[in-house]
Amino acid sequence: MQPADVLPLTQIPDALGRPLRDLRISLTDRCNFRCTYCMPRERFGSEHAFLPRSHLLRFEEIERLGRLFAELGVRKLRLTGGEPLLRRDLETLIAKLARIPGITDISLTTNGSLLGAKRAKALADSGLGRITVSLDAIDDGVFQRINDVRFPVAPVLRAVEHAQAAGLGPVKINVVVQRGVNDDQIEPLAAHFRGTGCILRFIEYMDVGTTNGWRLDEVVPAAEIVERIHARWPLEAVAPNYPGETANRWRFADGTGEIGVIASVTQPFCGGCTRARLSAEGQLFTCLFGSRGHDLRALLRDGRSDDTIRETLHGIWGARADRYSEQRSSETTGDAKVEMSYIGG
Ligand code: SAM
Ligand code: SF4
Ligand code: SF4
Repeated sequence: MQPADVLPLTQIPDALGRPLRDLRISLTDRCNFRCTYCMPRERFGSEHAFLPRSHLLRFEEIERLGRLFAELGVRKLRLTGGEPLLRRDLETLIAKLARIPGITDISLTTNGSLLGAKRAKALADSGLGRITVSLDAIDDGVFQRINDVRFPVAPVLRAVEHAQAAGLGPVKINVVVQRGVNDDQIEPLAAHFRGTGCILRFIEYMDVGTTNGWRLDEVVPAAEIVERIHARWPLEAVAPNYPGETANRWRFADGTGEIGVIASVTQPFCGGCTRARLSAEGQLFTCLFGSRGHDLRALLRDGRSDDTIRETLHGIWGARADRYSEQRSSETTGDAKVEMSYIGG
């Protein structure tokens, strides 16, 4: 991978002074899971219209946008979905992205169900740097109730090991905590992953989209999660890796590793938000809670020049004033918002 200093670090501040640094790229809106908080099967059943193949950005189109974004200051790419490992030949795309000057970090978020040892190695060989595996429970019954496709927990635990063995670590484990659903899994997950080198990241359940029937009383505040773990295994605060990091970091005082909590509801971090999101069909969103994207696929397929697209991106980011989580209220949670499975986590 090229070092970041191959490209001068561009600073495009948005309307609130935040630079553009990260791009999350959704590769598909499809998924083989039906996690009840993300793609409830009543709303994502057989009648749901997923994006037709011709609407998805092709790898060359994603690569071109990746290059233009890098020229505007993006350094980190995260591939997501839907389930990104459903996208065929993903390794070819990663190899293309890894060659873009300026990109220093490529990661992938997956449910782990399709991550065997061979695939993990192929992903690492193509230039992927790190993997995050989503795993909301260690108890098989709870896990299967949440993914709602009866997928057992054991293959996902093996996927974590495959990712580690392939050098895609430190592997992060995303846990979305919902009160009354999986909050009894906090300590068992901590017990399981302590000492493994994996970093557990507990995420407050968010009001993304409109289909999951989100309620504030289902959110387990990050402070409560930290207190509960601290009561069993004392924790010490760790300084952020970089300004604007989404997770608050903690380490086990006995040296058995680290956890993170993502307090997007109770302690919003919009002030440091440097992330843009690209949907699988090329809609650009400047906030996870956006309702309307900007159609970049039209620009690509209308034959616009690099200069024109760069100027458009510059204009979109420069005008950005999103800070949804800081403004969240009982009125905003019912707003029309894009679904997480469409835009990616
Ligand atoms: N399918 C992949 C996976 O599950 O890792 C990638 C896409 S998924 C949308 C990305 C992340 O978003 C996952 O860790 C998932 O748990 C999280 N997520 C989905 N809906 C959420 C919600 N309402 N609140 C918080 N996190 C959510
Ligand atoms: Fe699929 Fe990930 Fe959403 Fe679960 S969280 S339904 S695995 S996209
Ligand atoms: Fe960024 Fe929007 Fe999340 Fe705030 S609510 S941190 S602006 S994505």
